[in-house]
Amino acid sequence: MKNIDKNLYLGVDIGASNTKFIIISGKSIKTFEKFHLSTPHNKRKLVDFIVAQIKSLEIKYRTKFAGVGVAFAGIINSSGTTILHSPNIRELDNFPLLRKLSAALDRRYILNNDANVFAFAEALAGAAKGASRVVGITLGTGMGGGFVVNKVLEKGAHGGSAEIGHTIIDPGGVKCSCGGWGHFEEHLSARAIRRHGVKTQEELAQRAGAGNKKAKAGFADMIAYLGYALANIVNFWDPEIIVIGGGIAEDADLLLKKAVPAAKKDIVSPEARAALKVKKAKLGEYAGAMGAALLAIKK
Ligand SMILES: [Zn+2]
Repeated sequence: MKNIDKNLYLGVDIGASNTKFIIISGKSIKTFEKFHLSTPHNKRKLVDFIVAQIKSLEIKYRTKFAGVGVAFAGIINSSGTTILHSPNIRELDNFPLLRKLSAALDRRYILNNDANVFAFAEALAGAAKGASRVVGITLGTGMGGGFVVNKVLEKGAHGGSAEIGHTIIDPGGVKCSCGGWGHFEEHLSARAIRRHGVKTQEELAQRAGAGNKKAKAGFADMIAYLGYALANIVNFWDPEIIVIGGGIAEDADLLLKKAVPAAKKDIVSPEARAALKVKKAKLGEYAGAMGAALLAIKK
């Protein structure tokens, strides 16, 4: 641990089953270490668990973190202090996580939505590096999104922007995890794939390719809805690039290949249509943790 950069930031991505940790240097976005542990599903245990990791990592690196970024799969309040809605761990609804962390250990913390910080990481250091208008989409347990303009994460006036997964696309359709009906998330998440009778996107594509009727219809549904999502994003916001990540995207080459031309049919600006650029995420499963750490960097 000699000659180590003292300007270190910790990223913590709290997921339903695992919490990912990453340590990066604020200067060069160099990653020092990353690992994951099981997420405690209890308010007090979660705070103790994060604080214990910070303390033990600070001993190991012989420095105090310059900032700790926390990513969470849920709705965060506009000041970035409280989890308002936690779809996966209901006990964390209305939980003032930042206040509890600060009370337990005095550090600089930031809290943001996991899809927002995913987009931020991909815009700064991943598939969209160098682009000025970036949209990130995550397809996994749910469907999330994030907008980044000129390296600044767009949070919305009330912290509620980029919830592409909850766009109403099929009123009267399937009930969504948020309680609404007919949202994109129910067509493009792990739940949608399970509804089509398989466990993974890859399996769905393979079965569809082999002629299985149910899989063919399911795969066609995913292509169509991803196409609608991409077209809606472009018509509404005209980004330079859309980056798609999350567990489903990793094995979704065929899905993306088919959804992009499908989206073009619904893009109204001929220039935006011709320039449509959709890329798979580059930073892998630690993108959210990295984005949270990057967001914690002092400007
Ligand atoms: Zn919804």
